[in-house]
This record gives sequence, C-alpha cells and structure tokens, in this order.
Amino acid sequence: MSDLATHQAKLAPLLARRNGSIVNLINGASVPAASGATFATTSPVDGSHIADVARSDAADVDAAAKAAKAAFPAWAAMDGKARKKLLHKVADLIVERAEDIALCECWDTGQAYKFMSKAALRGGENFRFFADMAPAARDGQSLPTNSHMNVTSRVPMGPVGVITPWNTPFMLSTWKIAPALAAGCTVVHKPAEFSPHTARLLAEICHEAGLPDGVLNLVNGMGEEAGRALSEHPDIKAIAFVGETKTGSAIMKQGADTLKRVHFELGGKNPVVVFEDADLERALDAAVFMIYSLNGERCTSSSRLLVQRAIAEDFQKKLIARVNALKVGHPLDPKTEIGPLIHQTHLDKVVSYFDIAKAEGASIAAGGHAIDGPGCYVHPTLFTNAKPDMRIAQEEIFGPVLTVIPFEDEADALSIANSVAYGLAGYLWTNDITRALRFSNAMEAGMIWVNSENVRHLPTPFGGVKSSGIGRDGGHWSFDFYMETKNIAFAMGAHKITQLGRR
Ligand code: NAD
Repeated sequence: MSDLATHQAKLAPLLARRNGSIVNLINGASVPAASGATFATTSPVDGSHIADVARSDAADVDAAAKAAKAAFPAWAAMDGKARKKLLHKVADLIVERAEDIALCECWDTGQAYKFMSKAALRGGENFRFFADMAPAARDGQSLPTNSHMNVTSRVPMGPVGVITPWNTPFMLSTWKIAPALAAGCTVVHKPAEFSPHTARLLAEICHEAGLPDGVLNLVNGMGEEAGRALSEHPDIKAIAFVGETKTGSAIMKQGADTLKRVHFELGGKNPVVVFEDADLERALDAAVFMIYSLNGERCTSSSRLLVQRAIAEDFQKKLIARVNALKVGHPLDPKTEIGPLIHQTHLDKVVSYFDIAKAEGASIAAGGHAIDGPGCYVHPTLFTNAKPDMRIAQEEIFGPVLTVIPFEDEADALSIANSVAYGLAGYLWTNDITRALRFSNAMEAGMIWVNSENVRHLPTPFGGVKSSGIGRDGGHWSFDFYMETKNIAFAMGAHKITQLGRR
C-alpha cells in the first residue's frame, strides 16, 4: 500500500544515486559541461537542492550535434524491424521503472503522484506506439503516368533537436523523441532547466536498451545558451519544440540562418463551453479535471469556462464547492490532487493574476492566495464575473486557475471562444448534435473534444492553430515532420525527349 512515507523512502535512494549531479549524455558517455559549469536544480516541494546540473554551452551542443551526425547514417539505414525491437526495449524499461520515474518527476516538478504515475506509463506507450510504426515509416505511394512510374518514399531528415518544457517533462519528451527515433533520425535533447531529472533517466534507459552511441544525446542547460546553440547549429536539420509562444518565435528567428524546419507546440487559453442542454454533472467533472489536474500547468487545460447564462449560477455554485474540496498537498502523497507549482517565479506570476482579476473587476469565488510556508503552493482559484476582454480571460496563466464567463447564446459563445490569440484545444458540452457539429466546425482550435475531457488517441493529430503552434504530432503526422518525402521517377519506355542542339 503506497502512502507518502513509502514514497519518500523510495525516492531517497533514487536521489542518492545522482550523487548530487546531473550530467549530459553525449555519444554514449556521461559527461559534465566542457566548461565545468553547473546550475542548481531544487524541488518546488521545499526548495531543497536536488542536484548540480551540467550548464552546457555551444561547445557541448556542438559535440552532441557532431555525435548525432556521425550516428545518423547507420541509424537511418538500420532495418525498421531492428529499430522497432530496440524501441520496444526502451518501452519495457520505462514500464519497469515507471514508479521511479514518477517519484523523481513529482519531486522535480511538484506534480501530484496520482497523475505522474500514469504519465510515466504513458511515456512507455509513446515508445511502443512509434516502435510499431518504425518498419513502415518509409512507406510511400506509387503515382504512375503513361511514361513514368513515380515512386515516393520517406527518408529521415537527419539529426534533429528536441527542446522540451518543465510541465510533464518525461511524457512530453517521449512524445517527441520516440517518433524521431522510429523515423530514423538521431536526436539531441535539451530538456527544461527546471526539471532535468527524468530526461537523464530517459537517456540512461535508452542507453541501457542498446541504442547505439550518438543516437540520443542529452544536453542540459539554459534556453538562451544550450537551447539557442541547438537551434542555430548547422548540423541540426529540425527543431521540435514544446514551450511558450514567445520562445517559439525566438527559436524561429534563431533557426532562420540554417533554414531549420520547426514544429511548435505552444501555449493555450482553451475554452470549455457548456450549453444548458448538456449533461451537466459530466460537464462539471470534466471542467474541474481539465483545469485542476496537473496543477493547471497543462497546455490543453480548460482555463476558460464559458457557461450558458440560464444555468450559470447553479453550475458555478457546484463548481465553487468542488474547487474548495480539492486536496492540495505533498506531491508524493497519493491522495494529493494539486501539488506545488514548478518554481517561485512561476508561483509569483500565477499569484499576480489575483490582483489583476480584482483590478479588472472580476470576483474571486474560491482560492485567490498562495499558501504560507515552504514550497510553491497556491490555493486552486476560481474567477467569476469575468468579461472576455479581461487579461484573466485572454492570457495563459498556466496554474490551477479557472476564469468563468457566462454567455447568452451560441453566437455569443462562439465569439467569446474565438476571441483569444491562442487556438490549441476546445471542449464542447451539448446534447444537440447539429449544434455540436456547427460549433466545432467554427471553433478556432486544432483539437476539439465534444462531451469529453481530453482523451488522446495516439494516431490522431495533436497541435494548435493561431499562436498555439505550427505542425501536428501523432501517428504519421509525426513522421511527416521528421522525414522528407522523396520522389523517384522511372521511365517505363522510350518516351520522346525534347531535343535541343541536335543539328
Ligand atoms: P519555455 O518556452 O520557457 O521553455 C521551454 C524550453 O525552451 C526550455 O527547455 C527552455 O530552456 C527552452 N528555451 C528557452 N529559451 C530558448 C531559446 N531562446 N532558444 C532555445 N530554447 C529556449 O516554456 P516553459 O515555461 O518551460 O513551459 C510552459 C509553456 O509550454 C506553456 O506556455 C505551455 O502552454 C507550453 N506547452 C505547450 C504544449 C503544447 O502541446 N502546445 C505542451 C506543453 C507545454
């Protein structure tokens, strides 16, 4: 039976194994930054020191990119079935160590064990799913004409860079790295500076599973140093990035000189729209789950609740009771629903919106303050009486904070839903099928769930529109990013060639 004390006891040796340091993995070797520089990573639970992490600069990134370049030809040429076997081995090891991964992730990020235990296993599923796709990754089409047989195939792009954020870092890293490896690309991974622990575990697992040296390289460090160097490196053909919209824009500029292909999964201010004819109990469950799980530090969180005015008061009353009942606590306690936020600066940012809400004339119906004591804890918060143009209804807060906005009718709801810069996800609750079709067709979002919380099916496209991203992940969409399509045209006879200069 797991409880806080057992989890703490299990975490202690995992931290001790690090021996106070997290190093890079370049060409199969565990190495510190060439300069010897480090930065400290601390736990948001109590501010305690976890490890000194390699603070890589352009020289380390160059070594990793060179290793990825050298490993690329053999990895790309490896039979898809052999890649499949290796990637399944990675999945097996992730599943075997899922508890260790989850415990380290909770300590590093503050995310509750309740969710991280599932996220770790999901990392294994990501590897399994793309492992199974590896043998067919190159498949193409034949496009015949009368004179030529055109044969298309996909070829891996080359060494690619993967830059990941601090929220659910393990799961997100696997979601990017597994398809790149399955496609035949080699990878340099730069994880977020605030949550480097499980990226190191993933690199160790891949190494142990038998991935050849240089196929997956890990370079820790700051965004402006290691991240910038990776996105500027001439040997890196593409950057898969997950993070803030403004960082995506910076990476696009940094990668311009080397014509980087980019794939961006960026911010969101996703609406959950509840019509009066919906199954309101289920809508309530989903609305609460989608904003308050994972500390609200989730790109697909439903941070705006648009509720039809006729049912708004009653819905809000039930919502307040649910928010006040959420269990905030130690992330390693299996009963905890909300843990501490990632770091003090982020906590300060989230808390700053409480004053913004008041200044804008909205009400704070639940929460609205940080929790005293060690750790970056905040009360889950609910803003009511909000208007669509308020900052709390427009900006990504990225915490356990929900803004409620009532609407009159379908046209009003649609206009509010689309009134933000973002367009990642949307959630729609109604039992009117024609309205559901009409509304989801007009909603500006890359992904829409009707009468459902966010349930991912791995072959489906994942990504956003507007300021929420460029490109799609999932199934063959991932391969479209990590691979080039090549056409070979075979003449099928002696067709007439236009003759020049024949006298
Ligand atoms: P961030 O943009 O600050 O950092 C993300 C990564 O980029 C980190 O590894 C960081 O070191 C690196 N980085 C920073 N500056 C860089 C630069 N100039 N060049 C290269 N790399 C650089 O994001 P964050 O605060 O870590 O993550 C939270 C954000 O991620 C939120 O906006 C959230 O919505 C978004 N997110 C989006 C999705 C999605 O699927 N759309 C998923 C998860 C998170």
